[in-house]
Amino acid sequence: MAKRGVEHYTNAAKRAMQWHAENIKRMKQCRFDTISVHGVYSMQEALDFNQGSIIEPIYMSTSQAYRDSDEMEAALGYQIPTWCYSRIANPSMYYLEGVLALLEGYGSDVETTCCATSSGMGAIQSAVEPFLVVDPKKPDAKLNFVATSQVYGGTFQQFAERKDKDRNIEWRKIVNSNDMDEWASKIDENTRFLYGEMPSNPGQAFFDLQTVIALAHEHGIPMIVDTTVATPALLRPLTMGADIVVQSISKTITSSGFGIGGAVIARKNLTSNVDNDEMKADFGAYIKLLPNRDNGPNISPFNAVMALNDTRTLRNKVDQFSMSTMKVAEFLEQHKHIEQVDYLGLENHELHELAKKYLLLVDAEHDDRYGEQVNRYGHLMSFHVKGGAQAARDVFDAFRMIWRATDLGRVKSVATIPAISTHSQQGEEGRKLASIPDNLVRLCVGGEHPDDIIDDLDRALSVLDGKKVPFTSPEYSAGGASSATLKEE
Ligand SMILES: *Cc1c(COP(=O)(O)O)cnc(C)c1O
Repeated sequence: MAKRGVEHYTNAAKRAMQWHAENIKRMKQCRFDTISVHGVYSMQEALDFNQGSIIEPIYMSTSQAYRDSDEMEAALGYQIPTWCYSRIANPSMYYLEGVLALLEGYGSDVETTCCATSSGMGAIQSAVEPFLVVDPKKPDAKLNFVATSQVYGGTFQQFAERKDKDRNIEWRKIVNSNDMDEWASKIDENTRFLYGEMPSNPGQAFFDLQTVIALAHEHGIPMIVDTTVATPALLRPLTMGADIVVQSISKTITSSGFGIGGAVIARKNLTSNVDNDEMKADFGAYIKLLPNRDNGPNISPFNAVMALNDTRTLRNKVDQFSMSTMKVAEFLEQHKHIEQVDYLGLENHELHELAKKYLLLVDAEHDDRYGEQVNRYGHLMSFHVKGGAQAARDVFDAFRMIWRATDLGRVKSVATIPAISTHSQQGEEGRKLASIPDNLVRLCVGGEHPDDIIDDLDRALSVLDGKKVPFTSPEYSAGGASSATLKEE
């Protein structure tokens, strides 16, 4: 066989990259739903590479073979598009990363890239770690980062234990994320990034993102935002100037609950005071090809495809779930056993006006049902049960349809008591900082008809009247839930 030469492959790659780039350009002209459905997978790619498969195939393979040494050389020198080895990249991951990058940049001309990870925590770690490097000119400086204290429990542990305690990288906590003076007062020349979760899980803290982004950039540092609860269907920080978005795609993005995953989506040419041009130029590609190649936290192809599949219907789901949550919140608000309902959609929520400015259902103005901008507030809410911790547990234990699980973002309604679950490790003081009282129930309303969820809540709350409520929890069975052990009392 005649030798093909490296050039044969680089030329072929140029042609393929060109039609691929043209496809992405075409997709960028489309609406959010269309991008969600098609992503970066085109008919041409299906016919040329995937036997015409109309749905993106799952490539479970560990690695990619090459035709000859020339192709291998071109590939491993990153001269042609290649995925090489599934710790680093894989076509199934690529389809997911492509669509998430487009959705987070939707409605702007910001260029975005994405690296999908094995979990949301992996995404946060991948997003923050490249900034936590010592400046060789100031080897003794103590690094710090400034982040909201109202964050997901896992994020709290990663920041407090793994960074602050284990590595002496100071977490400067923002207690009131709407106090811009507080943000400003905590930044100095050793601050590497600002970080905020909005809305926060479970407290739904919310801050004026654009002002904090401006503050970050005044100091030459990046703004990193966790918008897991909002999803790009409601909020796209990169289009407002933020540098990096992290998503736990285990949640609303993969609402079916078929897998854990995360994503880092970054703008090209981001702001940072770390001297690393390659990182700043294309953060998403940088972490994928270098730190994550070496550390190994990227997503599995199977989980990537599960997430991809759920992403296709993201906007409509978020719309429906949000409307149902509103209805449930309004029901709970007037209930005699409820002390307080926290939902950004309620007008009496102290952050309602601010949330209204930011949380807009994407493309509502292009949707015949609405024809104008509409606010949606997502499907995370919480409520405080009158009577303290035990009363909250009694109500919680009486749910029949709402699942008791430390989960959220599901197509099925799920509830948890954060003080004894997601936020138990951070102790009472940490919970006070994050505003997590022990009578707080976090509820994430799913795709059921809201009336059925309201019925379940109403019946569960009636335990506080002293009425006997049928208790339906299965008896404990070490062997699992075989039907013989499921007894009604
Ligand atoms: C769940 C969650 C995370 C962590 O994601 P995992 O996929 O569970 O690792 C991070 N941020 C928020 C807001 C979350 O809800």
